[in-house]
Amino acid sequence: MEAVIDIQHISKSFGQHEVLKDIDFTVHKGEVVSIIGSSGSGKSTLLRCINLLEKPSGGMIIYKGENILDGKHNVNSYRTKLGMVFQQFNLFNNHNVLENCTVGQMKVLKRSREEAEKVSMRYLKVVGMDQYVNAKPKQLSGGQKQRVAIARALSMEPDVMLFDEPTSALDPEMVGEVLKVMKELAESGLTMLIVTHEMEFAREVSDRVVFMDKGVIAEEGKPEQLFNHPNQERTREFLKRTL
Ligand code: ADP
Ligand code: MG
Repeated sequence: MEAVIDIQHISKSFGQHEVLKDIDFTVHKGEVVSIIGSSGSGKSTLLRCINLLEKPSGGMIIYKGENILDGKHNVNSYRTKLGMVFQQFNLFNNHNVLENCTVGQMKVLKRSREEAEKVSMRYLKVVGMDQYVNAKPKQLSGGQKQRVAIARALSMEPDVMLFDEPTSALDPEMVGEVLKVMKELAESGLTMLIVTHEMEFAREVSDRVVFMDKGVIAEEGKPEQLFNHPNQERTREFLKRTL
C-alpha cells in the first residue's frame, strides 16, 4: 500500500509538557483511520502537527518520499494537500456558502473564479448543500455549516482529509447528517484521518483504529480487533468507560 503521509518519531512539547512522544504513524492511500482516546491524550496535537498548524519538536513527516521538515521544503504547498475540518467549522462568516468554498481555491491554487465555482458546486452537491450557495453561515444549522466546511476542504482536492471531532460541537439531532456524509466519502475511497468520539461510526467506517493514551499510540488495529479484542489493559479501560 502506498503511504500518503508517513510520520516518524514525531514529538511535541509545550514548555516542559511532552504531549506527543515518539509517534510513528502511516496513512495509506484510500485508507480511513480513526483516532480515539481520552481528552488530553494528544489527538488534536497530532493532527495539528501533521498539517503543521503546530511545529513538531522533533521527528520527520515523509510526504512523497521527502521529509518536509528538513527546512528545504515549501511547507505551504504541502499544507494545501491536506484538507482540515475542525470541531468549530471555522467558516468565513462574512462570506456566503459558495464564496467560502471558492476563496481558498482562487487565492492558494490560483484557480479562476469560474473554475473554482464549478469545483465548489461539485462538492457542495456531494454534501447536499448545493441549494444553499447564497446563504451566510449564520443562516445555517450546525450540521449544515459542518457540511459546508467539508465541501470547502474537498474543493481544494487534497490528498488526505483530516477531521478533528467534526461532530462534537453539534446538537445531537445533527450528528447523523454529518456522519452520513463522512461515511459516503469513506466509501468513495477518499483518504481520511478522523479524530472522533463516535465509536459506532469509527467501528463502521474505519480500516484501522488508533488508540492514543498520554501522548503515545497505545494500540492500533482493525476495528473488530481493537474494539472486540483489545490487547492492552488501558485500551480495555478506555472502551469500558466509553462504550
Ligand atoms: P486531545 O485532542 O486528545 O484532547 P490535545 O492534543 O488537545 O488532546 O492536548 C494534549 C495536551 O496538550 C493537553 O494536556 C493540552 O492541555 C496540551 N496542549 C494542547 N495545545 C496546547 C498549547 N497550545 N499550549 C500548551 N498546551 C497545550
Ligand atoms: Mg482534541
